[in-house]
Amino acid sequence: MGVLTGGNLNSLLSRRHNEKVRIIVHGGAGNIPQDISESYSIGVRKAAKAGLDVLESGGRALDAVEAAVEYMEDDPTFDAGRGSVLNREGFVEMDAIIVDGASLGIGSIAGVRKVKNPIKLARIIMEKTDHNMFIGEYADNLAEKFGLQLEDLAYFLTERRKSEWEKMKEGKVDPIKKALYSTVGAVALDLDGNLAAATSTGGIPFKMPGRVGDTPLVGCGAYADNELGAASATGLGEAIMKVVLSKTALEYIGLEGDPMKAAVRAIKLMESRVGGGAGLIVLDPGGDVGIAYNTPRMAFAYNEGDRIIHGVDISDRRSYVIH
Ligand code: ASP
Repeated sequence: MGVLTGGNLNSLLSRRHNEKVRIIVHGGAGNIPQDISESYSIGVRKAAKAGLDVLESGGRALDAVEAAVEYMEDDPTFDAGRGSVLNREGFVEMDAIIVDGASLGIGSIAGVRKVKNPIKLARIIMEKTDHNMFIGEYADNLAEKFGLQLEDLAYFLTERRKSEWEKMKEGKVDPIKKALYSTVGAVALDLDGNLAAATSTGGIPFKMPGRVGDTPLVGCGAYADNELGAASATGLGEAIMKVVLSKTALEYIGLEGDPMKAAVRAIKLMESRVGGGAGLIVLDPGGDVGIAYNTPRMAFAYNEGDRIIHGVDISDRRSYVIH
């Protein structure tokens, strides 16, 4: 007979609590090589945990996606914040977006070079200015004005990115064919039923200076609407923006009745209409999960009961018990 003791009552409560909130994160789609796949898999798991901690303490979906993305911006594994890829001239230009599903508020930046955590600047733009999007040095200046931490190239640049850049410069590696996108993103549902989405990137390696991808474009790199769902994308921005991938995936939820099928259909639409490699994480208003990509791998993580499910291959999911 099942008797509720203090111990199992607690676990029942925490399980119920867990079931109400959801976070999904991604750490980029692409051909993640085996020798570095562990750092991707662990990085996304820890980022999901950072976001989940916010949700479980009653925090907002917006705070959760910001926390998860900030974690990955600080982790040099990913192409966002520290570890961002270099453009042709050897400097970083980062893009980010945050979307609030409750108010449809947007904060977005393109081509910043100095702000340590672009996602924090995106949030400030959404909440503390009358505008939605800022670019380049104006955005970096705003970061300074709002007291955000600024860094120089030495902080963002890692050995791995430097050696990749040198090979690309010598023509030994084709940046598009190599196609390891390591953009980061998160979508979340909080206890109040609010949704949010966030995405942050250094863009694609060896891009032309001034190039802006899908990430900071609303509906492309991310979208959230409490009535539709929340989505974040990664992959070749030039393809993603042509089909407005994140918003398209959310519209497909209504047609397919399921976020997983919606994510798959949106990726297929992109592939058939414009080609390109990409991945998506999608959350419906009830907290169901959708994950799809047409690249060999994509780093992902999400909470499920007392676990975080994570990995770099959806058919080979790892299960981590939350302590
Ligand atoms: N979508 C990003 C861009 O095109 C790249 C990525 O996902 O890694 O800028």
